Amino acid sequence: MHDSRTGEPPRSCGVIEVVCGPMFSGKTEELIRRLRRAQIAKQKVVVLKPQLDDRYADDHVVSHNAQRIPSLQARTAEEIRRHGMDADVIGIDEVQFFGPDIVGAIEELADKGKRVIVAGLDLDYRGVPFEPVPQLLARAEYITKTLAICVVCGHPASRSQRVTQEGNRIVVGSTDHYEARCRACFVPPKEDGQSQVEGKVEGSQAQSRQGSQTDRQADGQTDDHINSSDAMEAAATRMPGSPASRPQSQSDPRPSALH
Ligand code: ADP
Ligand code: ZN
Repeated sequence: MHDSRTGEPPRSCGVIEVVCGPMFSGKTEELIRRLRRAQIAKQKVVVLKPQLDDRYADDHVVSHNAQRIPSLQARTAEEIRRHGMDADVIGIDEVQFFGPDIVGAIEELADKGKRVIVAGLDLDYRGVPFEPVPQLLARAEYITKTLAICVVCGHPASRSQRVTQEGNRIVVGSTDHYEARCRACFVPPKEDGQSQVEGKVEGSQAQSRQGSQTDRQADGQTDDHINSSDAMEAAATRMPGSPASRPQSQSDPRPSALH
């Protein structure tokens, strides 16, 4: 069909799809599922993730349940734009680690008729919206909010709890330092960096279901969001006595802590 006014063939209509939620909620799984279906449809797919750590041959997007898809790394919005121009469908994982410029790049790709699917954290470890995800949510055609399972009480979890004390700058293995929690069991770090885990959770059903929270402690950092420029900002020291049996701590296939 042609445009009746201009006689031009219509441009294909691009879209932005956002998959967001806390850690362990299945964002990457969902991203991979959509990208695989696009590949089955013989569309040209490019998968991108932020370049955070040079120590690993980071050539796949990998989910916590070991789903994987080959990917390229990108550092800047310009690189996203460049890689995206060659594709019909662009998947971007860990989108929260790109800076604000990525919003313009994603819009430009969608305006050019591309399907851009992004996955990322909507909230940081303090429970504060994690830019640029709110910007992308506002501009997206399709939004999916994924929830994990609260490791304390078993209810749907919308928050990522940091369960470490120190503020060392590491990436490797720091998925072990976060756990999925529901609104009731989530304990934001205090402004002064002191833990308030004990006070918040006291008396909740979390305790009756899974025992005392006193062995869990929120992170002592007072830093701002983890973002692309300080993505290495992740707590390093697991609290002595912190439960080792949390599901997400086991067999996490990914080198990056930031997921
Ligand atoms: P995300 O990208 O949101 O961090 P992934 O797609 O990488 O999540 O992983 C989702 C998988 O994580 C689930 O299918 C499940 O196997 C595993 N998992 C580990 N801990 C949890 C949890 N607390 N709640 C839900 N799924 C979990
Ligand atoms: Zn809970």
